[in-house]
Amino acid sequence: MIIDCHGHYTTAPRALVDFRERQKAAFAAGAVGGLDTKIRISDDEIRESLESKQIRIQAERGVDLTLFSPRAAHMAHHVGDAAASELWTRHCNDLIHRAVSLYPDRLVGVCQLPQSPGVSPANCIPELVRCVEELGFVGCNLNPDPTDGYWTDPPLTDRHWYPLYEKMVELDVPAMVHTSCSCNPNFHFTGAHYINGDTSAFMQFLDSDLFKDFPTLKFIIPHGGGAVPYHWGRYRGLAQNMGRPPLDALMKNVFFDTCVYHQPGIELLMTVVPPENILFGSEIVGAVKGIDPTTGYNYDDTKRYIDAVAWLPPQTRSKVLSGNALQVYGRLRRQLQAQGVPVPG
Ligand SMILES: [Zn+2]
Repeated sequence: MIIDCHGHYTTAPRALVDFRERQKAAFAAGAVGGLDTKIRISDDEIRESLESKQIRIQAERGVDLTLFSPRAAHMAHHVGDAAASELWTRHCNDLIHRAVSLYPDRLVGVCQLPQSPGVSPANCIPELVRCVEELGFVGCNLNPDPTDGYWTDPPLTDRHWYPLYEKMVELDVPAMVHTSCSCNPNFHFTGAHYINGDTSAFMQFLDSDLFKDFPTLKFIIPHGGGAVPYHWGRYRGLAQNMGRPPLDALMKNVFFDTCVYHQPGIELLMTVVPPENILFGSEIVGAVKGIDPTTGYNYDDTKRYIDAVAWLPPQTRSKVLSGNALQVYGRLRRQLQAQGVPVPG
């Protein structure tokens, strides 16, 4: 079995975006409460949007299952207030649930959270519980910067976040640390803000005792861990200089995906990061679109790079492609076991 831990519904039907535009206009006019909150999308529209893209690409690349979440750039937690974020988040998660229900063998839900700048993440607990317990989702995406580019909320290791972490531990769901759009013109969203978020989260974890307080809390840092693997020696040295434990101490709680879009990057990730900490991911559809003229294949066809790492032992390859995901996403493992699918652990 091959599990892609990182996919977004970037091809959602137009009615979703139209709703968001109406919501923004209503909020600007001070009338969120009066907003028509219905979104009319048919099952056929969902099927069409997935079969022409996500499901087709998965099948072409031999990927069995994708952990599927709302479009990250559209979370846009800076928009409106906590109530506006909650309404939008519920719609996005409900649409994921409908997609998963239409393709239960292909997709598993991961939720967006109704974060809002300056608001305690405790406000995310009811939606997290709903998605996990009622909709069967197995994880969440956590935006480390709900301001979308200005980083005025406390670091991920601050007690500010603890109520949400307590619930994540209780539910046994990990979070992918995932920024959204960027309102700051200094930071292109996918080219800089995403990678900044990944790298910053790792350094925050390194410089804290968060995992002493939450020994079973788990985070996936996407996009190959941002700049971290390339600068592994820097982080090892900083930990040493700062009197922090060696990086191994973080590796029970922190995992990286394989959304790295060239062969040397994947080789470096596999060389530097312990193999138990790497989860296959590709971030389809469309974080980086198009075909690499030097290879003739899509940049985001990350399975192809992993397949081409000749020195990777078969057991390690299997862990990266599915075994590690089943360890990190405990609910996914149990869901598959309940369906009679043979899985480790
Ligand atoms: Zn993503």
